[in-house]
Amino acid sequence: MTDPRREIPGVDTLLASRPFALLLGRYPRGRVVAALRDVLVEVRESAADGSVLGGPEGPERYADAVATRLAAADVPSLRRVINATGVVLHTNLGRAPLGDGAVEALTAIARGYSNLEYDLAAGSRGSRYIHCVELLREMTGAEDAVVVNNNAAAVVLALNTLAEGAGVLVSRGELVEIGGGFRIPEILERSGARLVEVGTTNRTRADDYERALGQGIAGILKVHRSNFRITGFTEEASVAELAELASRHGVALVHDLGSGLLLDPALLGLPDEPQPRTSLEAGAHVVTMSGDKLLGGPQAGIVLGTRDVVARMRGNPLCRALRVDKLILAALEATLRLYRDRDSAVREIPGLRMLAATPSELENRARSLAQKLGAAGMTCELWPGSSAVGGGAFPEVALPTTLVVLRSPERPPDQVLAQLREGEPPVIARIQDEAVVIDPRTVGKNEETELVRRLTEVLAAARA
Ligand SMILES: *Cc1c(COP(=O)(O)O)cnc(C)c1O
Repeated sequence: MTDPRREIPGVDTLLASRPFALLLGRYPRGRVVAALRDVLVEVRESAADGSVLGGPEGPERYADAVATRLAAADVPSLRRVINATGVVLHTNLGRAPLGDGAVEALTAIARGYSNLEYDLAAGSRGSRYIHCVELLREMTGAEDAVVVNNNAAAVVLALNTLAEGAGVLVSRGELVEIGGGFRIPEILERSGARLVEVGTTNRTRADDYERALGQGIAGILKVHRSNFRITGFTEEASVAELAELASRHGVALVHDLGSGLLLDPALLGLPDEPQPRTSLEAGAHVVTMSGDKLLGGPQAGIVLGTRDVVARMRGNPLCRALRVDKLILAALEATLRLYRDRDSAVREIPGLRMLAATPSELENRARSLAQKLGAAGMTCELWPGSSAVGGGAFPEVALPTTLVVLRSPERPPDQVLAQLREGEPPVIARIQDEAVVIDPRTVGKNEETELVRRLTEVLAAARA
């Protein structure tokens, strides 16, 4: 028996063949050679089972394998997807989508130079930390503000600035994990502060904090339980009570709000949720929140607070390591500006618009999708269902929606989901009661045609 590996053509032979001339016309030689070498390694490894790409059609098949490899390497890693899950601030799908105004502002700043750290009036060096501050003050009533990379960074910066080497009181009911590795005890430790737990999981009163205050304690951290609720026999100290305690003992009160809601949640049909303005008015010295949750802007962490506390944070060298770039500031500023008119905020900020979508609007959109699918020869059903806020906010809220239900007797739903993820653009849907369901709430109007094309593609393939 001859070794099948001896039939494998050499690199130079293949490169000189006709099918490779085409590839060399399209890709730099170095990339073709590297991909070919990888293919040859695989072929040699599998040659033991006799599956060598030899024979007269050999070069053609090697060229195909190399072309597939090169094309795959050109697909960007970070890709746009269609979110058909109905989870509005989907943490895995990039949380808040940006509004048109924010995208335009970001693009304009990205294309050229900007006054990021330049004082146009004085014609000299300025500070990046002034951008967005006026708008944040206007929207929240804060004396001052600083924007950093994300809310986790905001909390670290606040604790490091106010309590490095000292104790910080946190209720046992608020030692939460937000997701993505954000655990309050660990964040606290990394900021250089020492965690002092007070109260119990379900009940923590102002006296629990008061008893723990004293030597070596520099602050109180109150954390909004964004992503879960404690119900039943519960009690917690209010921001006002904690603020009173904090000022009496000369310590700082930091309130981590998470969501960054800047308007009345009733406008979105959502139950009450703490807001930065009320927290600051109740006496919190520092409030932190995300830019890309209910605020609906880019990923950012917003620190709001009293003038002296924020000035100390800006002066902390850690602030330099956690700072935001010009693109984020541009998108955040454009998003914040919309809040000057609450109705326009709800209309123009995609996340808010999706949350505020009415059941009848969603039913109409589901019907229109079903009609388009019908026109393409696909049948589907409509079911009443529910969407979620996501982003670890309002975990108990189920927003009524209408689901487009796709049944494919030929193929199990998880296979259909996998195929929906495979094409361009990938569609992320979910399974309910053993059927693939599409929630129109999170599908942009401009994505409908693409979505119908993708669904038709996959369902037609299942039939064939
Ligand atoms: C989401 C959240 C965080 C983390 O915010 P990121 O912007 O993801 O860093 C921290 N605290 C609370 C209460 C949150 O809800």
